[in-house]
Amino acid sequence: MECDRCGGDAVMHAAYSGAHLCERHFRESVEKRVRRRIRRDDLVPGDASPEDPETWVIGLSGGKDSVVLTQILHDTFAEDPRIELVGLTIHEGIEGYRDESVAACLELADDLGIRHELASYEEEFGIRMDDVVEDDPENMAACAYCGVFRRDLLSRYAAELEADLLLTGHNLDDEAQTALMNFLEGDLGQIAKHFDASLGPLSERNEQDEFVPRAKPLRDVPEKEVALYAHLADLPAHITECPHASEAYRGEIQQLLYDLEENHPGTRHSILSGYEELAAMVADQYGDDGDESRELRECAECGATTTREICRKCSLLESLEAV
Ligand code: SF4
Repeated sequence: MECDRCGGDAVMHAAYSGAHLCERHFRESVEKRVRRRIRRDDLVPGDASPEDPETWVIGLSGGKDSVVLTQILHDTFAEDPRIELVGLTIHEGIEGYRDESVAACLELADDLGIRHELASYEEEFGIRMDDVVEDDPENMAACAYCGVFRRDLLSRYAAELEADLLLTGHNLDDEAQTALMNFLEGDLGQIAKHFDASLGPLSERNEQDEFVPRAKPLRDVPEKEVALYAHLADLPAHITECPHASEAYRGEIQQLLYDLEENHPGTRHSILSGYEELAAMVADQYGDDGDESRELRECAECGATTTREICRKCSLLESLEAV
């Protein structure tokens, strides 16, 4: 196969676009999609200046997605004094898994010369995911606990670091899966929340001042292309899967999307673009209605911003202490 652009040896074929690309043109096309998404989501404010630079905190897990995102953001903004990047890694306490990915994060941050922060469930909450899985007081999947604790730490550290933006490495497959899951669950409130929390141009979201805005600039790039980019760029990504990975429903949706994409290339792109348009309308409607269930208050235990009297993280920690 030859590259459509230069006739060199193609390293990939994208069925959804028909493109065959060599290593150089493939890497350029990934970088271009990330930069286009940054522009479309208005992530760099017009008044950003070298005197008062924006702090962008990247959730850096050491997996291929966050490593590729960090590398491309660094290549894009290394010479731009308006943007400062900080890598933030969360250690969940998973034996034989997280230590290696933390090492990948440290190596990357060191290579790129960016600031890096490490937070752990053990230091912050006195728990390790390995023990949470053993105890399981709520009879839930590991990821249901882990996601709550991770979101809490990412938000808290982003606020402490005075971040203007919290960026995560969700790719096209992740976002198309979440879109389909939210749609199939029929929960419009969740769809509105998803849009306001992390999708679309910053100026069009009904964001709450209490939260650092989120962004997912890798969401136009399919998972396999992110993996290929990490491999070709020889990035220190950690690729072992977490031993507690347990989102069974997401696994079913993932398989469904693989099959659809195989038979109808472009399905993930059309799901996500249609979903974003729909989610923007739903978010607008919910924002205008001032839905009381989304009203924010301070958690009575930890003071975090929540819609409940005691936030989900504190109630999970209470259940774990009671075991
Ligand atoms: Fe946590 Fe689940 Fe991710 Fe493992 S797969 S790190 S348990 S969210």
